[in-house]
Amino acid sequence: MSKRDFYEVLGVERDADQKDIKKAYRRLAQKYHPDRNPDDDTAAEKFREVSEAYEVLADSEKRAAYDQFGHAGVDGQAGGFGGQGGFGGAGAGGFSDIFGDVFGDIFGGGGRRNPNAPQRGSDLRYNLELDLESAVAGTSVDIRVPRHIECERCDGAGAEPGSSKETCPTCHGHGQVRMQQGFFAVQQTCPTCHGSGQHIKVPCHKCHGEGRVRETRTLSVKIPAGVDTGDRIRLNGEGEAGINGGPPGDLYVQVHIKPHHIFQRDGRHLQCEVPINFVDAALGGELEVPTLDGRVKLKIPPETQTGKLFRLRGKGVKPVRGGPPGDLLCKVVVETPVHLNEEQKDLLRNFQESLDGSNSRHSPKKTSFFDGVKKFFEDMKP
Ligand SMILES: [Zn+2]
Ligand SMILES: [Zn+2]
Repeated sequence: MSKRDFYEVLGVERDADQKDIKKAYRRLAQKYHPDRNPDDDTAAEKFREVSEAYEVLADSEKRAAYDQFGHAGVDGQAGGFGGQGGFGGAGAGGFSDIFGDVFGDIFGGGGRRNPNAPQRGSDLRYNLELDLESAVAGTSVDIRVPRHIECERCDGAGAEPGSSKETCPTCHGHGQVRMQQGFFAVQQTCPTCHGSGQHIKVPCHKCHGEGRVRETRTLSVKIPAGVDTGDRIRLNGEGEAGINGGPPGDLYVQVHIKPHHIFQRDGRHLQCEVPINFVDAALGGELEVPTLDGRVKLKIPPETQTGKLFRLRGKGVKPVRGGPPGDLLCKVVVETPVHLNEEQKDLLRNFQESLDGSNSRHSPKKTSFFDGVKKFFEDMKP
């Protein structure tokens, strides 16, 4: 069973705070609550998924592990694997504080499916931070991925070689036990065998009966040129090992582009801010502006106003899915001069005097603004 991204499940941003996460969970849990959807199996599944996501994201430690390693970082703790039949017993407090423990096991993972059937391993996600230059040019990175692989010693069976499994004495092979909790009679995953119906007499020495062991592997990942935040690269079969002989899941490398100190990226376009001094802005001039493949000259016409955008065609990013490269938009920002000496200040005062009486000609924007202000106050008079 491949797992969806927990943030996606709750519909929250990656940087959402605890309040937002809790709010999203409450809303979704109420929507999919089994009491409200008695005839809808998919609602129960959704409810379980939402609760599992919440259990991880509500716990700062689990969330940090999940952010770094994806599902591999929290599997085994959040009830995904590791023998805990469902999330109900894992007890992060998040689930029980709204609906109580009783629903946890009814809709827990091990409840309905034959626990001995082959299951595909979980997909894993790896969050990869890239700088802009590598993302634009493409690169190859080595990543270390912790994951479960099938135990070699017992071939995934969990029993020490030479020993055998026997029928679980608690549930007599059903994998489920009936429990009375108050008014509810509930079917629960068997606590002895965790739903498998079988009891391992002598657990494998290497995997302690789990059938899988954790291993950290280094993988070399080719990053195609032009990737952007949100892009995912799939590595087939590099996810978690399957259970009971099922196929392995896939590994998704989720790309995040780090902020750049000069360029902001907007899809295939780049933007940068270029400060110019007010003399260049007034008289025009030539600026040197940065692009990803070196400096280029940019001609600034006379009377350039602050905030003006200059478009350098084709100096953006060539998109990973094809198509022409985007543009680089240079936004010029006029910088007021600082640390002027007396002589320079005198020059500016003289310059100011030279403008006297002809402001409307040299500063049309300022003139029309203050004309507007004047009219505004006149209109207010009774
Ligand atoms: Zn049992
Ligand atoms: Zn083993």
